[in-house]
Amino acid sequence: TVAPSEVSDAAADALYAREAEAYAAARPASRRLAEEARAHFYGGVPMHWMADWPTPFPLFLKEAEGATLTDADGLRYTDFCLGDTGSMFGHSPAPVARVLAERGARGLTAMLASEDAAAVGRLLAERFGLPVWQVCATATDANRYALRWARAVTGRPVVVVFDGCYHGTVEDAMVRLGPGGETQPRPGLLGQVHDLSRSTRVVPFNDPTALAAALAPGDVAAVLTEPALTNCGMVLPDDGFLDTLRTFTRAAGTLLIVDETHTFSTGPGGYTRTYGLEPDMFVLGKPIAGGLPAAVYGATAEVAARMAEAHARASAAGGHGHSGMGTTLSANPLQLAAMRATLEDVATPAAYSHMIALANRLADGLEAVIARHRQPWTVTRLGARCEFQFRATPPRTGAEAEAAFRPAVERALHLFLLNRGLVITPFHNMTLCSPATTEADVDRLLAAFDDALAQLTTR
Ligand code: PMP
Repeated sequence: TVAPSEVSDAAADALYAREAEAYAAARPASRRLAEEARAHFYGGVPMHWMADWPTPFPLFLKEAEGATLTDADGLRYTDFCLGDTGSMFGHSPAPVARVLAERGARGLTAMLASEDAAAVGRLLAERFGLPVWQVCATATDANRYALRWARAVTGRPVVVVFDGCYHGTVEDAMVRLGPGGETQPRPGLLGQVHDLSRSTRVVPFNDPTALAAALAPGDVAAVLTEPALTNCGMVLPDDGFLDTLRTFTRAAGTLLIVDETHTFSTGPGGYTRTYGLEPDMFVLGKPIAGGLPAAVYGATAEVAARMAEAHARASAAGGHGHSGMGTTLSANPLQLAAMRATLEDVATPAAYSHMIALANRLADGLEAVIARHRQPWTVTRLGARCEFQFRATPPRTGAEAEAAFRPAVERALHLFLLNRGLVITPFHNMTLCSPATTEADVDRLLAAFDDALAQLTTR
């Protein structure tokens, strides 16, 4: 429901139409590339969701550096999307670019651990507190493997996730809560044949009673969650909820897997280290190698020992080493070198101080603009990340956050900003500040947001 003073969809649609014309007029090169790409790419883009941005035709990138994108028409943008976290430390951070130039000419993939491996393991353990690690290609894979290990070591079939979650294209987590509290496949899935409700249970975030009920049968291998939901509009945990989650999972013999792929925005050791979480397993992808495809998952010593036991049992049955995990290019020398550079020289405490200060400046500014235009909207913060949401109070569940989506307003705002050289994360309203982002960048975003609201609220 839209409050009386709130921006209307009609105003948003009118603004979108004006901005769509301006977008098209200024981007002949992107338009031409879109037409050419359509011949041989499904949906006209090399990955079909790239066509889901709220632009009349896709924007084609020429290059990106620091917090700046340059498109095929030579137009420049300050990037607050940052590859939806893959480039959270800026595009092509210098230490990672150096690795690419130097290491890139000395062997890309060989099925062997490289000389950087031992150092990367030590860096991960020191930073995140879990002693035992594995490297793979994407956060999706890392989550998938963490779940497989959890089932292997517990001998239990069920996974619990929270309504509103996203953990990559992990089948087990592609669920939503049905009207009667049942687990349903997420709307929009293609080619889904397995009945997800047989092996996944979904519960509302911040709901200890529902969590206890989901764990009660004693068949849950793991709870997989972000410390704060970040993919349905941000939802922060209530005070004490993550403690309750830890207490309940321990009591149930269920592993707690914390996916820090986005919440790594909280601080150099993620939400886990900032707030003293005690996960059994830990997942991190996207920015961990500065933007190269790489991800890691870690385990406590106890879980690692149980992994070894389960592995030995499974290997005794034969199978030529197939565990159901691992892809050939995982943990290749380039990934390890880029990860080492990121951990040593990019994701530093100093970088975080800068990023978080700017994100707070941005969040304060967004709140002020929203108040000035009397919109019943809220701003949620998590370290270097913040998001405005179309509801008056912070959402406490994924369902509340998703109910606040306003596609018409969102696409008008996003395109308005894009036309003024400002990119925010598509499909919701999230922003990230990188080490390369400046106060002037933040202030330009605030000024443009102010202009957009002025236009949307003019009658
Ligand atoms: N975990 C979380 C919390 C994510 O937000 C995402 C992607 N948005 C993923 C995992 C999956 O990452 P990737 O698409 O790189 O596999």
